[in-house]
Amino acid sequence: MRVVITGGAGFLGSHLCDRFLAEGHEVIAIDNLITGNVANIAHLAGHKSFKFIHHDISNFIFIDGPVDAVLHFASPASPVDYLKYPIQTLKVGALGTHNTLGLARAKGARFMLASTSEVYGDPLVHPQHEDYYGNVNTIGPRGVYDEAKRFAEAMVMAYHRTHGIDTRIVRIFNTYGPRMRLEDGRVVPNFIAQALRGEPLTVYGDGSQTRSFCYYSDLIEGIYRLFNSTYTDPVNIGNPHAEKSIAELAHIINDLTNNPGGIVFQPRARTENDPQTRRPDISRARSVLSWEPKVSLEDGLRETIRFFKDKQA
Ligand code: UDP
Repeated sequence: MRVVITGGAGFLGSHLCDRFLAEGHEVIAIDNLITGNVANIAHLAGHKSFKFIHHDISNFIFIDGPVDAVLHFASPASPVDYLKYPIQTLKVGALGTHNTLGLARAKGARFMLASTSEVYGDPLVHPQHEDYYGNVNTIGPRGVYDEAKRFAEAMVMAYHRTHGIDTRIVRIFNTYGPRMRLEDGRVVPNFIAQALRGEPLTVYGDGSQTRSFCYYSDLIEGIYRLFNSTYTDPVNIGNPHAEKSIAELAHIINDLTNNPGGIVFQPRARTENDPQTRRPDISRARSVLSWEPKVSLEDGLRETIRFFKDKQA
């Protein structure tokens, strides 16, 4: 297949490029590099089946020749990033989704949207099943990401129903691993960066809020299975076994890095509407994709710490 991956120079997009190339497909990665980084795809330079296009997909996308699949993974995804680029985040979720769907329609290609657990907002049900409609503050600071992705899902379903496009929607829960930026702002890279500098880890609020952390390789496997399935409703992919409070996560990372710096509590004001709990219900992924995450939090964190250490060296 000839596959277009938007956000192809990003954390997940670049891992997806690797996976599709390893499966023998041809990959065209598109990225505007505002949060993506060519370093993530540098190892693919010169690969005969790989091409990179530096482009902002909020504008019309022109691809010569056939396209069999479009995977739309472009977007700032760290709260720090989408608070810094609120309008770009809305544009890539809205206009970028429209343009990539238009490309899929013109080429008769399969389409996959990278959606998010943020469509559930600060959830009032726990864990979150795909049938839950969510609790999002449209005008809050996180609204720029949450509403862009909610609009994107609606757009995908409209193209599916109206134009018969073969679509997939993956709702991605907190994922971590190599190729995240150290300055990404999300909790795992933040804590590891601080720990490697011997500094205290900055826990926002009292640290009782939870997240469920999925290692990137499990996530990519789930995405690949969903892509190859015929399932068109949204599917949660995340790790329900690794739900931790942020304070617990800080202790785990301090232990794994032997960080003497400890923990410092900071006000949570930065992240208004910061969800208090988050854990995926993955019963749909289990039954439709026979998928289950395999990598433990400790193993995944060890690998991620090694990656950041190598990067700093
Ligand atoms: N967080 C924290 N310290 C940090 C960065 C994040 O305590 O240095 C918290 C943040 O307030 C949130 C959780 O960690 O409750 C996860 O934040 P992240 O930015 O990773 O992503 P989110 O899951 O909120 O999209």
